[in-house]
Amino acid sequence: MDGITIALSKGRIFEETLPLLAAAGIVPQENPETSRKLIIPTNRDDVRVVVVRASDVPTYVQYGAADLGVAGRDVLIEHGGEGLYQPLDLNIARCRMMVAVPEGFDYENAVRQGARLKVATKYLTTAREHFAAKGVHVDLIKLYGSMELAPLAGLADAIVDLVSSGGTLKANKLVAVEHILDISSRLIVNQAALKLKRERLTPILDAFARAVQA
Ligand code: ATP
Ligand code: MG
Repeated sequence: MDGITIALSKGRIFEETLPLLAAAGIVPQENPETSRKLIIPTNRDDVRVVVVRASDVPTYVQYGAADLGVAGRDVLIEHGGEGLYQPLDLNIARCRMMVAVPEGFDYENAVRQGARLKVATKYLTTAREHFAAKGVHVDLIKLYGSMELAPLAGLADAIVDLVSSGGTLKANKLVAVEHILDISSRLIVNQAALKLKRERLTPILDAFARAVQA
């Protein structure tokens, strides 16, 4: 496509990206929460938005199916970032990557004893690096959702998950015991598109940068 395609996930990333798009003069013509369309036109004939799963955004941009996208640092670490230029931390969708365990589980003691822990997570790369750096032996169990259930159902001793308010942990009698990373979402750009479509992309990147500063 000759125009510009922007990959976004619905929910918090779409909502929090809207003001940045507006600053670049781009207004999506439909809301993905209510529309079933996966390709959303904007007020500009040459700009469209594709709505994809949060963890698929880097893949669309890597292969050039989208020129730009917005993705969480969590998702970018798991993807690896190949083919992506990451010019800007947008400071949106902020949360923390944490280790959490059931209330009453003595995590520090288990670590001190050198126990082998079963850890359930969607974020295998992040979790593997974290525990390797600490010298903690873990068996990682890959899940695709509802990590909070794993310790309660006896699948794992601990989870690695994203936490913002802590409300979900609390509701499931879990406590955060270790902070791994601060997470926010970044603007990502296809490296080839940045060269080939520079005149059209630069004003958008500049507008985003100014809006983030403000
Ligand atoms: P899905 O909900 O479709 O399984 P997902 O959980 O990755 O996928 P979202 O919930 O929309 O998708 O999260 C998108 C991004 O927002 C995440 O990659 C992360 O960077 C960030 N995020 C996730 N949970 C929170 C949260 N509770 N508070 C703030 N930001 C969050
Ligand atoms: Mg989610």
